[in-house]
Amino acid sequence: SKSEDQSTIVKKDEGMEQQPTAMISLQLHTINPNSSSLKSSSFPISTSFNSKSLKPHFKSNRYNISTIVSVLQWNRKPQLAGETPRVVVITSGKGGVGKTTTTANVGLSLARLGFSVVAIDADVGLRNLDLLLGLENRVNYTAVEVLNGDCRLDQALVRDKRWSNFELLCISKPRSKLPLGFGGKALIWLVDALKARQEGSPDFIIIDCPAGIDAGFITAITPANEAVLVTTPDITSLRDADRVTGLLECDGIKDIKMIVNRVRTDLIRGEDMMSVLDVQEMLGLALLGVIPEDSEVIRSTNRGYPLVLNKPPTLAGLAFEQAAWRLVEQDSMKAVMIEEEPKKRGFFSFFGG
Ligand code: ADP
Ligand code: MG
Repeated sequence: SKSEDQSTIVKKDEGMEQQPTAMISLQLHTINPNSSSLKSSSFPISTSFNSKSLKPHFKSNRYNISTIVSVLQWNRKPQLAGETPRVVVITSGKGGVGKTTTTANVGLSLARLGFSVVAIDADVGLRNLDLLLGLENRVNYTAVEVLNGDCRLDQALVRDKRWSNFELLCISKPRSKLPLGFGGKALIWLVDALKARQEGSPDFIIIDCPAGIDAGFITAITPANEAVLVTTPDITSLRDADRVTGLLECDGIKDIKMIVNRVRTDLIRGEDMMSVLDVQEMLGLALLGVIPEDSEVIRSTNRGYPLVLNKPPTLAGLAFEQAAWRLVEQDSMKAVMIEEEPKKRGFFSFFGG
C-alpha cells in the first residue's frame, strides 16, 4: 500500500550515513493551484542535502512524507502526461521577467528526469538561451540555414554535453534580423522535422519566446499546444501577462499555466509585494511554479551553468525542478513555495494569512 511505500522511503533515508557536506534549510508551503483562497495547509520541513547524492536527508518525519517526497522528488520518475512531443511555449509579454531562465532550467530539469528535450530559442533579436546554457561557442548553424538548405537539421541542433538528451536549436545568428519569410509556418515545419527524426520524436519541444506581442511572438506560439506564462508579482508584468493570455487563447492554446518568478516572501509579508495568490486571482491560471528571488540565478546566468545543475541545490533551482515535474505530470502535484527557513522565527503561514 501507499503508506508502506512511504515508510520504506523513510527507513531507506534514515539508513544514509554520509555526512551532508552542505546544508540548506527549507520551508515548504503548499499552495493549492485550483483554489482561489489559500486555506491549504502550510507546513515547514527541515531538510539537509548531501551534495554528493543530492538526496534529501530528512531530519524530521513529523510531516507528510509523501508530500515532501513529491516535492523533493528523488525517489521516482515522473509520469509523462499528454501526447508527445509536448510543444510548450514559454512566454510573458513583458521582457526581463525570466522566460529564458525558465526555458533553460525547466528544459534541463526535464532532460535530467530522462526526457528528450529540444529547446528552441525563438527570441531572435535578443538571443541568449545559448549563453545561459553555456552553449554559445557550439552554435555553428541555425534554423535559418536549415530552411535555406545550407545544412541539415542535426547540424543545427547543439547537444548538451552534460545531458545528452537535451538539444538547443537557435533560429538565427545573434543580432541578425529574422528573414521576412520566417514565420509560424517555418516553425511548424521545424517542429515536424524534429518529430520525424530518425532517432524518434523528442518528448518535449520548449520554445523560448521573445518579449512583446508582435510578429516574433506570433511565430513562437504558432506550433505550441501549451504555454507557460512567466510573470513577476508586479502590475506591469501582470497586465502584459493578461494580454498575452487572451492572445494565446485566440490562437487556440487552451492549456496555459503560470510561473510566478522573483517572489520575495519578506516583501509579501510586509504587504509590499503581491502574494502568489493575488497573482493567481488576477490571472485565473493554473499555477505551475513559484520561483523565489535568488541571487544564484544571476550567478548561474553569468557562468552559463543552469541553476538546476547546481550542487548543492539552490532555492530557485529546486523551485524550477518542481515546476518541471508539474509540467510533466500536468498539474497532478500541488505547487509548493520553497523559501529559506527564517532565522529564529516561528513557522507560520504568510500567504494571505
Ligand atoms: P526574459 O527572458 O524574460 O527576458 P531572463 O530569463 O533573461 O528574462 O531574466 C532577466 C534577468 O532576471 C536575468 O538577469 C536573470 O538573471 C534575472 N532573474 C530571473 N529570474 C530571477 C530570480 N528568480 N531571481 C533573481 N534574478 C532572476
Ligand atoms: Mg529572454
